[in-house]
Amino acid sequence: MPANVLRIALPLPLPRLFDYLAPGGGQASPTDVGRRVRVPFGPRELVGVVAAAGPVGGDAPALREALAWLDPEPLVHGELLASCQWLARYLHAPLGEVLATALPASLRRGEPLPDTATWGRALTAAGAAAIDGLRAGGRPRRLAEALRDGPLAEDLLDDAIDGWRTAARSLEERGLVERVVVDGPGSSAAVQPGPMPTVEQAAALEALRAAAGFAPVLLEGITGSGKTEVYLQAIAERCLAHGRQALVLVPEIGLTPQMLARFRTRLGVPVHALHSGLNDGERARAWAAAWRGEAQVVVGTRSAVFAPLPNAGLIVVDEEHDGSYKQQDGIRYHARDVALVRGKALDVPVLLGSATPSLETLHNARAGRHAHLRLRTRAGEAKPPRVRVLDVRKRPLQAGLSEELLAAIRTALDGGGQVLVFKNRRGYAPVLLCHDCGWSAACPRCSAPERAVPMTVHAGGRRLQCHHCGSRRPVPMACPDCAGLALQPQGVGTERIEELLAARFGDVPVLRIDSASTRRRDGLARELAKLDDGPGILVGTQMLAKGHDLPKLVLVCVVGIDEGLLSADFRASEKLAQLLVQVSGRAGRAERPGEVLLQTHHPGHPLLEVLVHGGYRAFADAELGQREAAAFPPFAHMAMLRAEAQKTGLPDAFLQAAAAAFSQARDALPAAQSQALLIAGPVPAPMPRRAGMHRAQLLLSSPGRRALHLVLDAVVARLHTLPEARRVRWSLDVDPIDL
Ligand code: ADP
Ligand code: ZN
Ligand code: ZN
Repeated sequence: MPANVLRIALPLPLPRLFDYLAPGGGQASPTDVGRRVRVPFGPRELVGVVAAAGPVGGDAPALREALAWLDPEPLVHGELLASCQWLARYLHAPLGEVLATALPASLRRGEPLPDTATWGRALTAAGAAAIDGLRAGGRPRRLAEALRDGPLAEDLLDDAIDGWRTAARSLEERGLVERVVVDGPGSSAAVQPGPMPTVEQAAALEALRAAAGFAPVLLEGITGSGKTEVYLQAIAERCLAHGRQALVLVPEIGLTPQMLARFRTRLGVPVHALHSGLNDGERARAWAAAWRGEAQVVVGTRSAVFAPLPNAGLIVVDEEHDGSYKQQDGIRYHARDVALVRGKALDVPVLLGSATPSLETLHNARAGRHAHLRLRTRAGEAKPPRVRVLDVRKRPLQAGLSEELLAAIRTALDGGGQVLVFKNRRGYAPVLLCHDCGWSAACPRCSAPERAVPMTVHAGGRRLQCHHCGSRRPVPMACPDCAGLALQPQGVGTERIEELLAARFGDVPVLRIDSASTRRRDGLARELAKLDDGPGILVGTQMLAKGHDLPKLVLVCVVGIDEGLLSADFRASEKLAQLLVQVSGRAGRAERPGEVLLQTHHPGHPLLEVLVHGGYRAFADAELGQREAAAFPPFAHMAMLRAEAQKTGLPDAFLQAAAAAFSQARDALPAAQSQALLIAGPVPAPMPRRAGMHRAQLLLSSPGRRALHLVLDAVVARLHTLPEARRVRWSLDVDPIDL
């Protein structure tokens, strides 16, 4: 007799579901789909999610019984489950791993959905009597005074009093303050009215109003043009006025306490943050509040795209081009793309905002798949900065900085201004460059239209290698173009730049901002506070491209862009252009116009020419043309199979076997699709050796998405069973952003 079984998605790297009997001799039923359940797996116990339930045909094999239900009712169900299932199919990843990625850690471990009451602090009777006895001006006194008129929620206190938790603890110990459940934290916040929308903002809002259901909308506007205002008003109109939920995704560096406070004060409702800076409990609570529909506004980074939205009204993806939306390990999803899929399933508009839209999104807008709205003017009166290219060929450099650049810094400081020295760094393998003439080593066997494919420096500077075809040659003794001896790999760290600047400009503070100094959420704000309002210099990388307003910033110096100009990755120009526009936007945000200096060995590089003279749009047009000619995304769809192993040769052996399987599957396609689908490699990874592992990759590329996925469908499950697979670590990356 057929038994009723639970088909469970487990967090294991195996492309299948696992069958169990219901716990405690109970009946498995379709209403169990979406419930978490604890199961025995070999000697271990795992937490899984029921993906299907019902009778199995034929002989029911001897199945183990699940141990226990973890949820009284389905936890991941409806649209969220369907979207996760879609994602698992699209990424060719196990559903159990996708669900594990979607759930906050504590729920993944099997803990119950937490309580979502809003906690706050209140004065006790003793506390109310003791206020005047507390030291005037101290934090405990400020906290007690803030609570004088009634309890306040924790996130309001976060906004109001820096470091209030320590003060609260000391008052709690003395019985003066207690932790209490409060009404919604928004109830006491005064809503700050927004400004009158500009004509362009009004047009954008009108377009959103006209959207009946799913509508992907690109909102293009430079920093300061009022995009966030559009998000806020759209959320107020579309969501809050109708009791619907809004999900706002922001890049990792965009989620600052200031930004959350702006949302809270403008919307007057609790804003639930979801990001990696929270502890497990906080994350699970925000997720649970979204699940219960209590969280009306959820603001978060990449993984917040999996927030449950039982009552969705709008999804916003701010800075949609930002690389932090793509997860680079485990389940390699792109949060912007998942947002679009969820928006479609939820039938709500998806607003993609950016000053420098990704070429994918621009392409979609041009093809009419996305509406395209623009904000062309800055809301304030700030003028766009002047951009100048500094040719440093043959100029003496100190820590990678030219005399001309240092002189410009001196002038800016003498005028009382602040300076940002921005070092581009993207983990590119170093490119060999002639300091005298700008020559760089290009592969004789590869080329992309209008652009050489650079060879990168390996073997401690003795060898050049092409990442596309793998060809190698020794590093030349002298420059083949000018016979100069000034050949050097590119790349100077920010520490050396800081040292030099501190020595040269001892009269002003020089602050180096790195990931260590900004790991704490308000770390960057603290560092920047050290500059005060006086002259000073900030040195840093990508982290400084965006964020805090620096009204005294008059000069932005950009160094180290040559590696990006020469990179073998076809997406490097796009990333560099976005970064340059982003960094340039930091100068001259107040009344005085700012200046941007781009130091380079390639003053005539088309990317710089186009950016300086035509701006991002001109760049994007030119770049889309090149991508189309070269059949690169968004005119092709790609999947990258990566493998690594301690022993050399093993990754290649696995990828060779995979390539054979892919090629067989390709032959089964209709001729036109089959010919257009390219299988390139195996080739060494951009970093062929990392942490002792040898790494290689295989790239599939097809003009049509369907053909690519047919081939993946046919092969990926088989990859798990290849004998070579057991000796390597491998992963599949659908729509890779780093090649
Ligand atoms: P973005 O998100 O594009 O960087 P913001 O929405 O943050 O731009 O707006 C930049 C600044 O301009 C903010 O200080 C904002 O309050 C102000 N602003 C935005 N829209 C208007 C408007 N319609 N009228 C006046 N000020 C505005
Ligand atoms: Zn030369
Ligand atoms: Zn080559």
